[in-house]
Amino acid sequence: MADVRIVEVGPRDGLQSQPTIYTPQARAQFIDALVNTGIKHIEVGSFVHPKAVPQMANSDTVFELIQRHPGVVYSALVPNEHGFELAARCEPDEVAVFCASSEGFSQNNTRCSIEESLQRALQVCDLAKPKGIQVRGYLSTVIECPFDGLTPIAQVVELVERLIDMGCYEVSLGDTIGKANPEQITQLLSALLPSVTADKLALHCHDTYGMAVKNVLAGLELGIKVFDSSAGGIGGCPYAPGAAGNVATESVVKVVHEQGLQTGINLQALRSIGI
Ligand code: MG
Repeated sequence: MADVRIVEVGPRDGLQSQPTIYTPQARAQFIDALVNTGIKHIEVGSFVHPKAVPQMANSDTVFELIQRHPGVVYSALVPNEHGFELAARCEPDEVAVFCASSEGFSQNNTRCSIEESLQRALQVCDLAKPKGIQVRGYLSTVIECPFDGLTPIAQVVELVERLIDMGCYEVSLGDTIGKANPEQITQLLSALLPSVTADKLALHCHDTYGMAVKNVLAGLELGIKVFDSSAGGIGGCPYAPGAAGNVATESVVKVVHEQGLQTGINLQALRSIGI
């Protein structure tokens, strides 16, 4: 039994910001190879409009091609009701909804206000529940926004509570531009933890300034047990100027194992995988 759950975001969050568009076959092979290292939770693709994110076109085909293993959560990112309907045909174990903690990022990333994105997320939650599909919430720019500057902690707390209230079983807190330091992560989590328990929170760190692993450690210290990461550290954010890649899965696995905690992932096997 793993002590820490790694959510592998490389095949979605990673590949969507790569200049290369990979075939569904290559994406499916990448996913299968990652799962074979012991990863139990993985983003397969997204159902946003292919004009907006051409790298994620044909995510339905990727779902068809992967070899699904029992006990592994295969997730799809969905922007709205329509995206959910498309994703639901692929029978994902989970869909992920997203919203920003800053208006500037919300407008630039999704061309809508925070309030509108919450409404879309609520609609997805209401559709997913009767189908037995769990919903994970992504909240971006929780520390700092490339357009609005530092994000007020109270704003993040309110948005996390609203995502949980609407039915997200977990909210992944995104340091989208990788500017967070461990003190800021500690401050944010300390503000959240009285009202939201640690088992409903995850951290999604980017490594722009080489702080991601330290931020993961700060999260572990306060009881966070779920971390998003991407194999090889691929991916930045196409809508966040200057954002470097997601923290590398191998870095997170290594540091978690060094703490004497288990991930169930074979680090050596993981290091040999690329797309
Ligand atoms: Mg990311």
